[in-house]
Amino acid sequence: MSTESTDTSLLIVEDEPKIARLMADYLQTHGFTTTTLGDGNEVMPWLEEQTPALILLDLMLPGQDGLSLCRSIRQQYPHTAIIMVTAKVEEVDRLLGLELGADDYICKPFSPREVVARVKAVLRRSQAAKSAPGLDTSDPDAPVQLDENGWQAMAGGQDLGLTAVEFQLLRVMMRAPGRIFSREQLMDHMYRDNRIVSERTVDSHVKKLRRKISEVLPERDIIRSVYGVGYKYQPDE
Ligand code: CA
Repeated sequence: MSTESTDTSLLIVEDEPKIARLMADYLQTHGFTTTTLGDGNEVMPWLEEQTPALILLDLMLPGQDGLSLCRSIRQQYPHTAIIMVTAKVEEVDRLLGLELGADDYICKPFSPREVVARVKAVLRRSQAAKSAPGLDTSDPDAPVQLDENGWQAMAGGQDLGLTAVEFQLLRVMMRAPGRIFSREQLMDHMYRDNRIVSERTVDSHVKKLRRKISEVLPERDIIRSVYGVGYKYQPDE
């Protein structure tokens, strides 16, 4: 992985001045530069002038609310990471269900330390996604072809019917044939609302992915489990 400098500019959208100040101070201490906006209506005009690496976005705001802002930002600036900040834990399930495309969620009250850790993790994931080699995953001679725009995987002319998570796992591995990915690395490559929450869920998603592939290609074992380490895509014997 390259060590080139990471963009560290953050936008904090938060209408409670105390919370905004707390976040800004702590993030600045950890090397980030921050701008704070307290009104939802200020956000889209500001983004026309500036391009932050990540936005911490409060849900309840005066002016345009966090929900509708998240949708607008995702649509217009697909590469800007978003962490939604909510006041209730129960909100997170509902937000996940809406598939807003946020990269992560933080609940109030939060510790500043947690915010810094989440920001770093999200930026690490989005950097990893951007720097993933652009290997041709639609190669007609490969056992499986990916339609990256349609999020479809085909084998032997059949749609494998993968879920978004399974598709992302397969794509990560197919971009680097033969490379062994640890469960943690696979989790790092998951982003947006499809992220995986634990190493055990990686196993369960990979298991389903392998089953779907083997239904179409029973004689091939292209996703291999590497005992004690992780998984790899191995198109040839
Ligand atoms: Ca608020």
